[in-house]
Amino acid sequence: MAPTLRWRWPARVLLALALLLADLPALASSLAAWAISRQGVLELRTSADVAPQAFFEAGGGDRGPRVWIDLPGAPGRTRTIRGNGPIREVRIGRPDALTTRLVLEFAPGTRLNPADLRLVGTARDRWRMDLRGLDRRLAFGLGEGDLTAAVAVSRAGSWTPRAPVPTSRTPLSADGLPTVPRGRYLVVLDPGHGGPDPGAVGIGGLRETDVVLDVSLQAARLLQARGVQVMLTRTSEVDVDLPPRVAMANSAGATVFVSLHANALSMARPDVNGVETFFFSGGSGGSQALAASLQQRLMAVSPGTPDRGVKAGRFFVIRRSVMPSALVEMGFVTGAIDAPRLASPDFRRNLAQAIAAGILDYLGGR
Ligand SMILES: [Zn+2]
Repeated sequence: MAPTLRWRWPARVLLALALLLADLPALASSLAAWAISRQGVLELRTSADVAPQAFFEAGGGDRGPRVWIDLPGAPGRTRTIRGNGPIREVRIGRPDALTTRLVLEFAPGTRLNPADLRLVGTARDRWRMDLRGLDRRLAFGLGEGDLTAAVAVSRAGSWTPRAPVPTSRTPLSADGLPTVPRGRYLVVLDPGHGGPDPGAVGIGGLRETDVVLDVSLQAARLLQARGVQVMLTRTSEVDVDLPPRVAMANSAGATVFVSLHANALSMARPDVNGVETFFFSGGSGGSQALAASLQQRLMAVSPGTPDRGVKAGRFFVIRRSVMPSALVEMGFVTGAIDAPRLASPDFRRNLAQAIAAGILDYLGGR
């Protein structure tokens, strides 16, 4: 697996980001303006409290390095802006119906050290990345939109680019998902583990933390497209202690809480596979129905793997949350059937659809 750069901010800073995906229009791009100065500083203006994800890919052959930033909401039109000097071009792309991708394509031979690159939130709607090494090498600056609009106060956070996780070529689409009244529900999704804790590590180095983060981010966008507010307990390779994850859901008055995990056993037991969903029987009414909806939808996209069922469990995150909550184990990273699927971007996209559908089924049927 590609090395992942570590988050250096304390969990409470992350909690300040809790609203990150909450207030967005479902489909409009959250990127309002961007600029790259002659000094090599990239600045973004976004909707307030979004969580951009920054990525870095090294160059090779006749291709230079590439930095890109994914933001919620798709752009009205995709476009390419010609660069100069070390920046070959800037693209505003639409990798799927729910995402804007700002791509900086550098000239071959451009030296950028990913360890120096950080996308830093300077306000709730402002971001800055110092592209070290580019200072004064641009003949003129680049950009679109108005960066001078009034600044929303309070600090946003900081994101270190990571190596790209392969994504599906099938565009993310909310088509076919159940509908619920818009603006009525708040869902907290909890991608298990993160930061120094990779969770389970299975066949081929498949890491639970990567699997569940990818699925959670996609499920969040699908739910938002259905008018459901979503909070994620983490949106990056960060570590959050368990009590804050639950506190976030409780204090926000979330409608439901869903924690996403992948199971593991010993590498010597590839024969053990399957999907299971837990609820806390002493908890909020509705937890079992939520768990059942999730399990049913997950099994529908996971043919051939055992249905391990809906089970009562005592995991902290579902025991201490006050709203209906469930903990999903989407398969075994050590399983011969499940591991290759969990490693597949297309399958993870299906899992995200299933998670979103299971939650919407539950919300619609309450
Ligand atoms: Zn786990």
